[in-house]
Amino acid sequence: KTVCVTGASGYIASWLVKLLLTRGYTVKASVRDPKDPKKTDHLLKLDGAKERLHLFKANLLEDGSFDAAVDGCEGVFHTASPFYHNVTDPQAELIDPAVKGTLNVLGSCSKASSVKRVVVTSSMAAVGYNRRPRTPDVVVDETWFTDPDLSKETKSWYVLSKTLAEEAAWKFTKEKGLDMVTINPAMVIGPLLQPTLNTSAEAIANLLNGSQTYPNSSFGWVNVKDVANAHIQAFEIPSANGRYCLVERVAHFSEIVEILSKHYPSSHLPQKCVDDKPFVPIYQVSKEKFKSLGLDYIPLEQSLLETVESLKEKNFIGGSSSN
Ligand code: NDP
Repeated sequence: KTVCVTGASGYIASWLVKLLLTRGYTVKASVRDPKDPKKTDHLLKLDGAKERLHLFKANLLEDGSFDAAVDGCEGVFHTASPFYHNVTDPQAELIDPAVKGTLNVLGSCSKASSVKRVVVTSSMAAVGYNRRPRTPDVVVDETWFTDPDLSKETKSWYVLSKTLAEEAAWKFTKEKGLDMVTINPAMVIGPLLQPTLNTSAEAIANLLNGSQTYPNSSFGWVNVKDVANAHIQAFEIPSANGRYCLVERVAHFSEIVEILSKHYPSSHLPQKCVDDKPFVPIYQVSKEKFKSLGLDYIPLEQSLLETVESLKEKNFIGGSSSN
């Protein structure tokens, strides 16, 4: 079977390509710059790549850019979307590539008669960023939606980009009768395959790289291998549908530091929270839909250890912080 992965050089997508190749798929992988070895070398070295990986050049903001990559594919995994926080022009840097890019990819899918299902990498950012109260008993699930007005008010542009992109995707696929499933992970951690540091792994690297304080935030956390496998199961299982929240556990950064301190006692981890306010409360995220894909979560503690070991190996954290 042939499938397409957009944004193949990214953190999540690299794992997706690896696991698809392992399962015997032929993968048409889109990258922005196929000539940049930093974006492609690690993909070309994967088992099965020589025989079954094909690179295509495509940009989210160029109309029709994905036609060639999508053509002839039964499944399309749309992961490409900018994920960073320091932006000067949120519309141009985050929102346009997320929203127009998603519609661009879905447009290619609706033209290709081979496409049976599209799996879009959305985010918990499109699920839970609203004013509904959070306590340890509250269970967030796939029926929740982010409030775009709140993300505008708080200038949470990445959150807004993912929310608007998912909204536009549901509207488009309903109109065109395209079968779409979305995967909505929270903070993704675990081993890095790509040689560059992505935003979510950076949150852990920062803690080990001399930060004096940790953020007063509680996030859901999930292992990148679980995220990649969920994408594949969502394509392979005919009855898979709708959205899939992916969170193994919600934890405040104080808990992340506590777990890391246990395993890396000689590292210089921050001992203080960035502010004196009460800790942002934790909450639950329903695991039912994820489990219906026949998967089980890798525990947060293991995911953290895998992340740190990988960050050390790739020299993203200094020698003094390693144990
Ligand atoms: P990465 O930054 O590693 O990957 C992002 C990918 O998007 C890269 O391949 C990048 O290409 C591509 N991209 C960005 N802009 C464009 C563009 N204009 N045209 C073509 N490609 C573009 O991030 P992740 O792997 O973490 O994220 C992948 C997806 O998962 C995104 O949709 C993100 O929103 C989502 N997600 C991530 C989470 C996380 O915690 N990591 C959590 C929830 C969702 P290039 O390499 O050329 O820059």
